[in-house]
Amino acid sequence: MEEEMKVLVTGRLPESIVNKIKKEHEVEMNSNDIPMERGLIIQKVREKDGLLCMITDKIDKELIDSAPNLKVISNYGVGFNNIDVAYASKKGIIVTNTPGVLTDSTADIAFALILAVSRRLIEADNIARKGEFRFWAPMHFLGKDVSGKTLGIIGLGRIGTALAKRAKGFDMKVLYYKRHRLSSMEEETLKVHYMDLYDLLQESDFVSIHVPLTDNTHHLIGENELKLMKNSAFLINTSRGPVVDEKALLIALRERWIAGAGLDVYENEPEITPGLKELSNVVLLPHIGSATIETRTKMAELAVDNLLSALKGEIPPFCINREALQ
Ligand code: NAP
Repeated sequence: MEEEMKVLVTGRLPESIVNKIKKEHEVEMNSNDIPMERGLIIQKVREKDGLLCMITDKIDKELIDSAPNLKVISNYGVGFNNIDVAYASKKGIIVTNTPGVLTDSTADIAFALILAVSRRLIEADNIARKGEFRFWAPMHFLGKDVSGKTLGIIGLGRIGTALAKRAKGFDMKVLYYKRHRLSSMEEETLKVHYMDLYDLLQESDFVSIHVPLTDNTHHLIGENELKLMKNSAFLINTSRGPVVDEKALLIALRERWIAGAGLDVYENEPEITPGLKELSNVVLLPHIGSATIETRTKMAELAVDNLLSALKGEIPPFCINREALQ
């Protein structure tokens, strides 16, 4: 019989999935959808062996130091910029994430933003609802074509690749930029062309960002990069807000350096830089990239599997810091 341990789950997950943890351990779970306050997490994690946290929880030195028994931090999400992984490793705490299961739903949202902003879907829906659809006319509500255009993907990992596949269905030419270039065979299979960031920005009709947030990608897209883009081009961000300098983007959209933007993430989430909401050439989503019933269920299952396996003393399926075990 294994030792029963104590687990904190900071977001409300489906009961049937949390029951898997309850069969083996004592669980305390946030009972509603409002993120748990940091002070409360620090207080509650004190006695815990396992933490299943949300991407909105900042798991830093202070929080880790407040949990002397902690063995695992299981992040409910693929991006783990909210966690001080180096410090967790130093303390011998395993950190895990949930890659793969959210790839398709997030790529779908990126493509949905491409279509929404270029075909002005949200503006058009508002007009129809307000009773302002009074006539059809040749020059009415014109957007921009997506089919046959050039898509530049920054960060061609799991989600970027899934987006490239979708773009092929629209006969788009796909350019990509990442630190490590694919082999020519991989490029041929995916039908993607490598470019450095600055050429990609100048060549693309749509630029979609899919890098993780790290020290190297913070403000990867700022004033200079936005000025390189065509003034007919659109910027799509479903990665993490701070990858884009949101103040520079506001000016770029206002002054039409670029044609528009589609955003799922923000620099200071859940705040949105004042001024953006007033613009008609931007589509704003409340960070719903992975928000489908199927994906969120799979993410919960994976986060729980990671957690349970680490508490058993095994290496979990998606451990991001094996060095913690040394
Ligand atoms: P992934 O498979 O690890 O892909 C990341 C890509 O970024 C890789 O191609 C990587 O290639 C590239 N990259 C990393 N650092 C770079 C740098 N400094 N410059 C240029 N390229 C760089 O990750 P993923 O599963 O596709 O997820 C990507 C991100 O999407 C996550 O980290 C997360 O923040 C975000 N996300 C958002 C949502 C949402 O709800 N909106 C949902 C899921 C994920 P190289 O290593 O060769 O550079």
